[in-house]
Amino acid sequence: MKTAVFPGSFDPFTKGHEELVRRAVPLFDKIIIAIGINSQKKYLFSLAQRTEWIEKVFANEPKVIVDTYEKLTAHYCSDVGANYLLRGLRNASDFDYEKTISQLNAMVGDDLETIFLISEPQYSHFSSTIVREIIKGGGDPSPFLPQGIAIPKR
Ligand code: ADP
Repeated sequence: MKTAVFPGSFDPFTKGHEELVRRAVPLFDKIIIAIGINSQKKYLFSLAQRTEWIEKVFANEPKVIVDTYEKLTAHYCSDVGANYLLRGLRNASDFDYEKTISQLNAMVGDDLETIFLISEPQYSHFSSTIVREIIKGGGDPSPFLPQGIAIPKR
């Protein structure tokens, strides 16, 4: 069984994340969207809220499940029997960062391979950071969010 873990903060989950997962569905038997919990990090949305949104987006996709984890990503992958990590590349700075993380995960992990998908051009400027800034500034984040996900105005 080919299982991939797609790790991230997903604060919040964007159309860019959604597009990546949908393109990866034919490549794997199971994809676990794993929300990493870092006690040092402040999040805009609660874990429960982030989980609920992602579950809603993939409600009709049985290969995709949502989980949360607190340990090292590589150790979490061994726990769930995943040999693949899924990550997205939007630009050169993603590449520089992801290259290091992927090499570390290959060392720490047990037969763990990172699979990268290049973002589609129309989503390559989408990020959770941009969405949070729009929300904080009182703007409308809906063009950046998966269909059916509505963030109440603050
Ligand atoms: P992290 O907290 O690890 O940065 P994110 O939630 O920001 O997690 O992103 C998780 C993954 O999704 C990363 O691999 C990132 O490159 C990818 N990603 C984010 N936005 C996009 C996008 N618009 N298109 C493709 N991949 C994306």
